[in-house]
Amino acid sequence: MNEKIPTIPNIQSLPKITQKQLVTEFMTEKLGDNYETIYTDGSKLQEGETAAAFYCMEHKLGVGSKLSNAHSVLSAELIAMNEALNHVKHYHNNDKTTIIFSDSKSNLQKITNLKIGDNPDFVTQQLIHSIQFCRQNLYKTIKFQWIPGHIDLKGHDAADRLAGLTARHGRQTTRSELDHPDAKQIIQKRADNLNKAAIERMTESHGK
Ligand SMILES: [Zn+2]
Repeated sequence: MNEKIPTIPNIQSLPKITQKQLVTEFMTEKLGDNYETIYTDGSKLQEGETAAAFYCMEHKLGVGSKLSNAHSVLSAELIAMNEALNHVKHYHNNDKTTIIFSDSKSNLQKITNLKIGDNPDFVTQQLIHSIQFCRQNLYKTIKFQWIPGHIDLKGHDAADRLAGLTARHGRQTTRSELDHPDAKQIIQKRADNLNKAAIERMTESHGK
């Protein structure tokens, strides 16, 4: 698991064009030949519409999933990685190492810092399960790699655009899973609104 592009510290302080150049050099020089790449991204629009998407370079395939508005963008990014792994499980039965790219540093750090005995949210558990499945059943290595966002990298751009389009125009299936942290936030928000309304009513009646 690499949440940094190795050997390039503070890459985000460099101009976009240099970032792109360094990332491309890194891929050709450091990763070797026997690997395949999938780019992932999540999107949440201002109005709340949310989607996850991945783009597989091997199959030249982009897949977007519209999610419930209740998902945070962090969940969406994690779900995108999960969907990429599900695709790998079914269609990448080969000996290549799969590298899954994400620009979500905090998710990658969260996964890297997981310890035995931790009880992470369900999407993270699914992710761990899929990595183990690929390792044990397909003898594949799965690596996660952070890349800076919006540097004009073809595969990442495709995932980014697809996530945005799916959020805006996609249709959600009836099945919806919501993680504990996101659900908690919504309940909290609703409770805050109810409290606010109650306080407003109280102040109103006091004012009379
Ligand atoms: Zn593929």
